Amino acid sequence: MALNQELSDLLKGHFKSPPKDVAYIRTMRTESRHKTCPMCGSFHSGTLDHYLPQHGFPEFSLFSRNLVPACLCNSRRRNLLAGQGPGERVLHPYYDDCLTDRLVRAKFEDPGEVPRVSVVLAIPNTHANYAAIAFHFREIVQKTGVCGHLGDEWSKMLRRPSLAVRALGEAINHLGELRQLLEAELDRQDDSYESRNNWQSMFVAGLLDPPILQWLFAHLTRPGRHPDEPLIAWNAPGEVNLPT
Ligand SMILES: [Zn+2]
Repeated sequence: MALNQELSDLLKGHFKSPPKDVAYIRTMRTESRHKTCPMCGSFHSGTLDHYLPQHGFPEFSLFSRNLVPACLCNSRRRNLLAGQGPGERVLHPYYDDCLTDRLVRAKFEDPGEVPRVSVVLAIPNTHANYAAIAFHFREIVQKTGVCGHLGDEWSKMLRRPSLAVRALGEAINHLGELRQLLEAELDRQDDSYESRNNWQSMFVAGLLDPPILQWLFAHLTRPGRHPDEPLIAWNAPGEVNLPT
């Protein structure tokens, strides 16, 4: 009975003032706010999530290296950690250095008002971590809203290029100049979001794809177009010839 009372007081005290050593969780959560999700590259990070799921690995539930800043993509994967094939697994933001490489980029096809938008791996299949990266890409990145974000950026760029890439609001005279400008923008986005795999870098890396670069240059330099005007000349409503 005395022990029970003692235990009860101890537990009450514990819940009234949680031990200081879990304060790091609050610090990590605050520090991760507004940063890029290290799992998928979205801008919605801000929660700390378990890499090893609580269910099945309760002993790791407060281990700081098991708490990763992530967005909903991490809870969406549920308990998934590895695939069936050799080397197939989810990458770990603290232990997988390959996450600092550029792994993913946008792919735009049929450029125009409504292009086909997808994301593709930016690494060769000879990469040492290819199986893990491809698995992570398929199970985490491709299941997010990344293509919706990329499509929105594309639409913004068509309407007013500087909204998507600030420097596209200026007059551009050579294809090489456009490439350089986009490479500088890619570097800026990588640095700004402290990741080469954030969604904005994926967008710019997709614009550097040679056929898209050509298309973009042709539309930026369309005769009669002024800097930062729409890339595609739409007919004003009054100019549409309605069938009689
Ligand atoms: Zn995410």
